[in-house]
Amino acid sequence: MEKSELALTQAVESLQDEMVDFACRLVAQPSVLGEEDGALEVMEQEMKSLGLEPVHAPMDSPGLAAHPGFAPTPWSQQGRYSLAATRPADGRGGKSAIFNGHLDVVSQEPLERWERDPYEPLVEGGWLHGRGAGDMKAGVAAMTYAIKAVQKAGLGLAAPVTLEGVIEEECTGNGALACLVAGFDADAALIPEPFGPTILTSQVGVMWFKVSLTGVAKHTLEASSGVNAIELCCYLMQALRGLEARINADKPVDFAHVATPAQLNIGTINSGDWPSTVPAKAEFQCRLGFFPEMSFEQAAQAVRDCLDQAAQKDAWLRDNPPEVEFYGFRSQGHRVSRDLPALSLVSQCHKDLSGQEASEYACTCTTDLRSFVVYGRAQATCFGPVAQNIHSPNERVDINSMIYTAKVYALFLARWCGLVQ
Ligand SMILES: [Zn+2]
Repeated sequence: MEKSELALTQAVESLQDEMVDFACRLVAQPSVLGEEDGALEVMEQEMKSLGLEPVHAPMDSPGLAAHPGFAPTPWSQQGRYSLAATRPADGRGGKSAIFNGHLDVVSQEPLERWERDPYEPLVEGGWLHGRGAGDMKAGVAAMTYAIKAVQKAGLGLAAPVTLEGVIEEECTGNGALACLVAGFDADAALIPEPFGPTILTSQVGVMWFKVSLTGVAKHTLEASSGVNAIELCCYLMQALRGLEARINADKPVDFAHVATPAQLNIGTINSGDWPSTVPAKAEFQCRLGFFPEMSFEQAAQAVRDCLDQAAQKDAWLRDNPPEVEFYGFRSQGHRVSRDLPALSLVSQCHKDLSGQEASEYACTCTTDLRSFVVYGRAQATCFGPVAQNIHSPNERVDINSMIYTAKVYALFLARWCGLVQ
């Protein structure tokens, strides 16, 4: 490594206490859906402390609503926003970059399974504990402090770099898309999701849908003339499991090492109000993965066909078919070549800092990479810290891996944007 690059990694080390403190301040904000304001404010302050001018990328703009990647939501987007701030170039001739991280977290439930308050960040034994510590507030801190390290080392960059702190990564992907629609794009984009020191080269598509159906309410005395909506749900869930099996029967080679890479998750069910009454209404909500070969429209049609065919085989559902509604995620899957200059540069930075080769990662969930790869121009991948129990109780992130991620990102900036001394 060159002397200036060494100075950069030393600058990251000198900033590590501040980086941990920033991650803790983010974790202290319970930024579940609809309650992201506190985390957005912490991020905006941090952007300002870097000397940047953050922009609110609106989630309720007509341009976003009309975008083909926009996911419709039953909740209002009015007044909601994601954040983007660009550090202008200090010179010429470099390539631009975006560092993107999401500020939203999934629910802390089941709360009673946590060993401590999920929103009271705790540093202990080299780990930072708390909801969102891994997914992905440590990553947000790492990418932010990579830029801070450039400044602390007294260096400049020959191309602009944009920091994005977005919401709705966990449910729609609309936040990252809002930044793109607001005009933020670059030659490369990196997302420090907590997948460790790997290069993400493919990810599945993901969609959400809700199935609603009606039965016939009866007292249990006359249960035989009722139609139990919960049992009909079970029947349709089995049919959807069949669809999941058919999708996974045709696994592309990059996902072949995972048993069920295109997962169906039945996430919620609502029905019934009395043990002695046959329930007359029910609805359940699902998440289904699908491979990059399939478009969202094809996957949605496969769900409709599956439910139709099951309904045709049932005496009640044939005349009272279930309704299916698609909302939230409708994210296309994608693949990128590891040989793209930005991806191979991340690998090289990792190799120069650790002596290790980065492995390739085929992701069985979606990330905001979709926004860059499917709809933008950036060469984009994930490379990030090491976390445990994301989306589960007792989430935690390895602090050294966060600091390490910041070093890789700082080195990437030096080599991709170009240093101005
Ligand atoms: Zn995440």
